Amino acid sequence: MSQAIAIAVPAQRQSRQSKVVWGSRVVTVGGGAPVRVQSMTNTDTVDVIGTAIQVKELAIAGSEMVRITVNTPEAAEAVPHIRDQLDKMGIDVPLIGDFHYNGHRLLTDYPACAEALSKYRINPGNVGKGDKRDVQFGQMIEAAMRWNKAIRIGVNWGSLDQELLADLMDTNSQRAQPWEARQVMYEALISSAISSAERAEAMGLDGAQIALSCKVSGVQDLIAVYRELGRRTDYALHLGLTEAGMGTKGTVASATALSVLLQEGIGDTIRVSLTPQPGEARTQEVVIASEILQSLGLRIFVPSVTACPGCGRTTSSTFQELAKQIDDFLRAQMPVWRARYPGVENLKVAVMGCIVNGPGESKHADIGISLPGTGEAPAAPVFIDGEKRLTLRGDGIAQEFQGLVENYIENRFGSGSAEKK
Ligand code: SF4
Repeated sequence: MSQAIAIAVPAQRQSRQSKVVWGSRVVTVGGGAPVRVQSMTNTDTVDVIGTAIQVKELAIAGSEMVRITVNTPEAAEAVPHIRDQLDKMGIDVPLIGDFHYNGHRLLTDYPACAEALSKYRINPGNVGKGDKRDVQFGQMIEAAMRWNKAIRIGVNWGSLDQELLADLMDTNSQRAQPWEARQVMYEALISSAISSAERAEAMGLDGAQIALSCKVSGVQDLIAVYRELGRRTDYALHLGLTEAGMGTKGTVASATALSVLLQEGIGDTIRVSLTPQPGEARTQEVVIASEILQSLGLRIFVPSVTACPGCGRTTSSTFQELAKQIDDFLRAQMPVWRARYPGVENLKVAVMGCIVNGPGESKHADIGISLPGTGEAPAAPVFIDGEKRLTLRGDGIAQEFQGLVENYIENRFGSGSAEKK
């Protein structure tokens, strides 16, 4: 007799757990905590209101930490005001300050900025050259210790520590069988991250408060680097394909790279570094990151809508419009529904185009509709909890089905529902 096929649920790599805190909001990272979604603003940080609004949008879309650029004294001055605006709006999402070149000065000269941030991103390739490097890196670590903040040592191959790379290239040239240049670059990324973290710990920073990232823009490069990074350390790891690009390319490349690693249990926080298309909302990167985690079964954020792709049997675009309408409706309601209907994110809805797979797929969902395909009677059976309950007809199918979904949610997840009694 053949054996049952194992259910593939990724076991997370065991990492240290850090806490990223703002007020009473504590976001745990690593150590078995859910994989977290991060994002980053693209506003000028000096624009307090504009930045606060975008942070709010990203947080509402599901970003559990939001990174902002802190690149100038004016930006550092703006940070506590952005924090104030967010607090006034009831948005307690922790802010991460992104520092390059002058972070040591900004964190020292602007204590209100250092305090208002919940985490500092430090790029060891951009903290200074020669003798200044260790001193300036040390000043940032001292700020993290003074204000009790988490840090991320964020290495990026676009700004890799050139002195370290040169040293590793020299060492490589003396090997009997030199590594490929790409392998030396991998080693430089990993060494830079780990040695910086160890230096921070040697200064007294709690190692559990340190996360690492080594971002590259190639899918295979990212997978190779993080596999090795995950093998060599137990620091929490932030995953992301840097400069992923626009639209389909950026989405697919990010999803491919992150999914391979997450399926191997590697990754404690993720970001999708998508270049927004003209007019596209910044929140799209949060939606994609959440979808990656939800598709892998690692997190559940929103109800899922199963929709068929359509084919020659579909008579019109009705089912496409209905699937989109329901999906948009569910996402738009989630900020309110999360509090009002605990567990609603587990809801499964099906919107199908014809009788071939429509009734079957609809029965697998909590609530599903099978629209009429070519040659079928103009009727749309609705299935609730696996049973056909009614049939919709006419021009108002979309609206009526949306109403049925709302009723289902109220009955199942509302405070007066049988499950809550
Ligand atoms: S369910 Fe029907 S309409 Fe949808 S893809 Fe399958 S055969 Fe085509």
